[in-house]
Amino acid sequence: MLQTTSTFQPALRTAYEEALAFVQSLAHAPVGATADAATLRETLFRPLEDGSIDAVAVVEELVRDVEGGILGMPSGRFFGWVIGGALPAALAADWLTSAWDQNAALYACGPAAAIAEEAAGAWLKDLLQLPPAASFALVTGCQMAHVTCLAAARHALLERCSWNVEERGLYAAPPIKVVTSANRHASIDRAVKLLGLGTQHIELLEPNADETMNPQSLRRALQARPHAPAVAILAAGDINTGAFDSFEELIPIAKELGAWVHVDGAFGLWAAASPRYRGLLAGVEAADSWATDGHKWLNVPFDCGYAFVADAQAHRAAMSTRAPYIAQTATARDQIDWNPDWSRRARGFSTYAAIRQLGRSGIADLIERSCRHAAALVAGIGSLEGAEVLWHPIINQGLVRFKSTRRDATPAEHDARTEEVIDRIVRSGQAYFGPTTWRGMRAMRVSVLNWQTSDVDVSRAVAAVANALSG
Ligand SMILES: *Cc1c(COP(=O)(O)O)cnc(C)c1O
Repeated sequence: MLQTTSTFQPALRTAYEEALAFVQSLAHAPVGATADAATLRETLFRPLEDGSIDAVAVVEELVRDVEGGILGMPSGRFFGWVIGGALPAALAADWLTSAWDQNAALYACGPAAAIAEEAAGAWLKDLLQLPPAASFALVTGCQMAHVTCLAAARHALLERCSWNVEERGLYAAPPIKVVTSANRHASIDRAVKLLGLGTQHIELLEPNADETMNPQSLRRALQARPHAPAVAILAAGDINTGAFDSFEELIPIAKELGAWVHVDGAFGLWAAASPRYRGLLAGVEAADSWATDGHKWLNVPFDCGYAFVADAQAHRAAMSTRAPYIAQTATARDQIDWNPDWSRRARGFSTYAAIRQLGRSGIADLIERSCRHAAALVAGIGSLEGAEVLWHPIINQGLVRFKSTRRDATPAEHDARTEEVIDRIVRSGQAYFGPTTWRGMRAMRVSVLNWQTSDVDVSRAVAAVANALSG
């Protein structure tokens, strides 16, 4: 069959209408899933057809078949995990990225995609107040940003031991110690695994009462073998509490003892974009590498994370690759020199569009608004009978739990009650929260990052919790 550009029109139009209907439905549709795995299997496991199917029918059936299995994740009342929404300009740019279908591995494969990434990288460093000379990479998420940054760390630390890790691998290489908090996000452990550093070389430090890293503990951990290869991984925004390590205190200690400092700032690094909250990050610019996300607080569609490395040479040495057929250019940045992937989506466009839509003050406002809503949610829920605030938000993350009304209730009964209430809230479809375990207790995490979340959403969510509690 002859394919002409006009054959795209019906399918794209259907997708446009369905997408619009979906985002407009978010105001009233249930926030959680309503279909179970068996139902979704029944609808989606269609027979593998031998013949072709009309593109519009494929799109229409897809929309029908996923019914009930699409979370209202971009909704203003979605407070589970740490999840952002998608700004209109970012979503539209994401669609165009698919239509343009550039392979953003090289400048030559997509000149505008490469230059848009250069611009986005420069803007990101400006917004996040990172050193202008730092190198960067737009990756799939903070997980791969950790891998990218820690690959640069591995290169630099072993180079100091006259060990070329890219050539010799880790066989018989000096071990690299990784010092981080017992609170660290599990993506740290996975990056360590993927890079062959070995999780047994991670030393976990017990945090202070305010959930931050203790400077004496860091010193002790690094002093055991000063100037032996080591990475200290600090947190800009703990996953449960949003706590920020004291960079001003910790980074000089790590540097004095020869460690590479990496910062997990998946969402918290965005505090830098707000004049009100950037004080939480004082001293962070002295780190060696930073990882953050676009698909969380910047409200870029999934998948979008950012890696930054102060020592651009180490970053490039860890990632760069060459093949005879790839056309390198001297006048522009080839993304393949900085990313772990080869062929890749031109993910710079959606970041570029998000930053353009909000501007500097729009981003600051998004950060500050999210924090205000998180505080209101935690205070509102905390004032309900049977609820207890475990953590008042520093930024956008808070913790509550629900206690059993039984006299002399055991910790396990409070845990069970917390799970039960969360389950009821989610089943009500009015709001979405998720559970976590914090200091040995089951808790409900309150996480606000969506540009759409409003005061009305906050009131509706608190009412949903009140309903769940009275049931
Ligand atoms: C979400 C998150 C990660 C992992 O990021 P992905 O984008 O899911 O890869 C790492 N650290 C923290 C603190 C996070 O919140």
